[in-house]
Amino acid sequence: MLAMRFDNDSLPVMFEPDAEAMPAEQLSALQTRRLRALIDQLLAAGGVQADRLADAGVTSGAELSLDDLAGLPTTDKRDLWDNYPFGMLTVPRERVVAVHGSSGTGGRPTLVAYTKGDLALWSRMCARALAAAGAGPGTIIHNAYGYGLFTGGLGIHQGAIELGATVVPASGGMTARQVRLIADLRPQILTCTPSYAIRLGEALAEAGLTGENGPSGPSFTAGVFGAEPWTQEMRARIEELLGLRALDIYGLSEVIGPGVASECFVAADGLHVNEDHFLVEVLDPSTGQRLPDGTPGELTFTTLTKEAMPLLRYRTGDIAALRTGSCPCGRTLVKMSKVTGRKDDMLVIRGVNVYPSEIERVLLGEPAIAPDYALVIDERNGGLDLIAVCERVTERTSGSSSAGGAIRSEDDLSETLEHRLRETLGLRVEVAVVPPSTVPRTEVGKAVRVLRWTDSHSDPPVPGLPA
Ligand SMILES: [Zn+2]
Repeated sequence: MLAMRFDNDSLPVMFEPDAEAMPAEQLSALQTRRLRALIDQLLAAGGVQADRLADAGVTSGAELSLDDLAGLPTTDKRDLWDNYPFGMLTVPRERVVAVHGSSGTGGRPTLVAYTKGDLALWSRMCARALAAAGAGPGTIIHNAYGYGLFTGGLGIHQGAIELGATVVPASGGMTARQVRLIADLRPQILTCTPSYAIRLGEALAEAGLTGENGPSGPSFTAGVFGAEPWTQEMRARIEELLGLRALDIYGLSEVIGPGVASECFVAADGLHVNEDHFLVEVLDPSTGQRLPDGTPGELTFTTLTKEAMPLLRYRTGDIAALRTGSCPCGRTLVKMSKVTGRKDDMLVIRGVNVYPSEIERVLLGEPAIAPDYALVIDERNGGLDLIAVCERVTERTSGSSSAGGAIRSEDDLSETLEHRLRETLGLRVEVAVVPPSTVPRTEVGKAVRVLRWTDSHSDPPVPGLPA
């Protein structure tokens, strides 16, 4: 049903077909040329990256090949912190026209700098992502990523303008106003975090604006969702709730922002990495050795064409796998899988390593459970217990096909899910099924899925948990 919204004349087109469908040999020649220039740029600028290259015996980019990349030094978030705010610039400070960043862990901000050229590159990368989702000149794009230091809002905004689309800068929050804008403007593309897509979907359902019986019917064809990891199960839920094709977009401010990689409408099974500008590798998170295609590991990017703050082999901490091969959309760019977790948000529960995404997959595989959930780490009794708090679906948001069959009791649901989690993860997880709208929703930015409960005298982090 979804695919029918594009007939053959209006199939999504590429924004930069020469680059996005470049033959492999031509692409590696371009990457080699750009890598050599990057090394010379870093050496000339001095600073931490130049020092590391010198330590590795690299005095010039001239003779380097792509195979040499694996032997070059890496960078990570600590380098940005240590050189905060402008210590890693390779251009004079006066050439910086914008900064973006993230609040980061422990309150330490990460700040990145952009020249005019960097902003132009970023706009093109986001225009590629929007075009891959089916947008073109005149397409109305409802952009509910937060505007500000966070790269989501302004990145997509600039990309939409670059594409010639019509952008609605809704930003995050004020959901009632967003519902009104969507009803009035009937946008074809929705851009926001996947958790906010769910919040919006629920609000649209409450307003009677989704589903076949809604007064205006659905207007969305595709959504471009990113800035937090989400699973295939979450994708299915969002598609059902909003009646669109849910596509993943990936990026991080250190590399440029959203638009480093994105899914195409045609295949929607992995994100094409814009590897003519961002060389991608997957490394073993502990040893730093390069891993073969298909093996999940730490995504590592080399920015080939950035001016203000280029990074060599930046280790992102995000876990994903790469896949080469052809795609029905015609792009030749390598694909990365969805991000399955962060190197550092792996939970260790009673000696078992578990990523929140693995738990999500089991929870959302159950149609009677709503897509918002929270994982509470219960540390009250000196131990470490995991409670998965999930909501039962409401009739309104359950769509036509879900839930189906007899209404099941909450105890019955808990028991079933606890059993499945034990089978799948080898881990005992307590499951608490709570009424709809109990789990805290996100209005802006990213959902907080993992909560800690440390003090037995304090209220539970999610209302309704037994004390
Ligand atoms: Zn594709």
